[in-house]
Amino acid sequence: MSLMILDKGAVAPLVNALMADYRVVGPQARGPKFVFDTITDPSQLRLDYNTTILPPKKVLQPPEERLATFVRGAKPQVETVIEAQPTVLLGVHTCDLHAIQLLDKAFSQEYPDAHYLQRREQTVIVSLECLEPCDEHSFCKSMGTLTADEGYDLHLTDLGASYAVDVATERGAELLSKYGTAREATAADIKRLNEVLSAKWPRFTYRLDFDAAELPALLSTAYDHPLWDELGERCLACGSCTNVCPTCYCFNVFDEVDMSLAEGERRRRWDSCQLDEFARVAGGENFRKARAARQRHRFMRKGKYLYERFGVLGCVGCGRCIRTCVAGISIVDGFNTIYGSA
Ligand code: SF4
Ligand code: SF4
Repeated sequence: MSLMILDKGAVAPLVNALMADYRVVGPQARGPKFVFDTITDPSQLRLDYNTTILPPKKVLQPPEERLATFVRGAKPQVETVIEAQPTVLLGVHTCDLHAIQLLDKAFSQEYPDAHYLQRREQTVIVSLECLEPCDEHSFCKSMGTLTADEGYDLHLTDLGASYAVDVATERGAELLSKYGTAREATAADIKRLNEVLSAKWPRFTYRLDFDAAELPALLSTAYDHPLWDELGERCLACGSCTNVCPTCYCFNVFDEVDMSLAEGERRRRWDSCQLDEFARVAGGENFRKARAARQRHRFMRKGKYLYERFGVLGCVGCGRCIRTCVAGISIVDGFNTIYGSA
């Protein structure tokens, strides 16, 4: 829609003004790491963060939430609960932005999920162009997520003393004009923006040995690859890799009934295909009992199954699963191993 310029000194007043009307969530320091959390003071916001432990997905699909309350007895009642509130999600990197677009598809097609969709509807996304790799584990350039041209309301690019703000939606324009003090970009600003954007690309390296578009076809030949047994031997089935993944959206639904057994609530929480019991079904049968089979499922899901379902790859190259894995299992190394032996 338009390109605006927001001085860095105007960010804290903007956040302060937003906090009056919205829950504002953004990256903050936690020791040496960063997390997305509610901002209670503008000084907490760290737009210079590298990566976060959990992705901003947790704002749209909380780790645990209440879905409904119920009353048992002669007149049973069920009431849907949707815990959503107007939210501004600040500082979303483009890999996570691509992941949110995948979640949008997952939660809106076939079985629209009212809980996710209401939160999504009430969330204004202010994303941030990455100018440096998070660390040696990110491979966003290989996965085509190093930049984005949709999925946000406002998109910031650091120009040094100011941010260029790509205003993509009416909602973003309203937010900026009501709460911020931005000015229209001049020809000199646009020249500076182009310089900054073209200078960033050489700083990122390709870490896949092949084009990511080949992944679905490559994995379709790898169902019996020896890599799965090797990874299954090393994997501790802790589930951390899926918990930190911005595109994993599986959950478990369970009921909690109060002591009187008269009322209770239905809840859901994140689940992980890497846990032993994930694929256990009635009768005790477990159709992915071996860790090797579960590792294969994770790789297939990221590089093949989600592509076949939604038309986009299920891995955005954020590197979180690699950073978090105590067994040193790397999804990008795994993809390269399969490619190298094809
Ligand atoms: S984080 Fe590593 S060890 Fe844990 S389940 Fe995932 S691959 Fe296995
Ligand atoms: S599979 Fe790993 S690198 Fe890919 S999106 Fe998930 S956490 Fe990030």
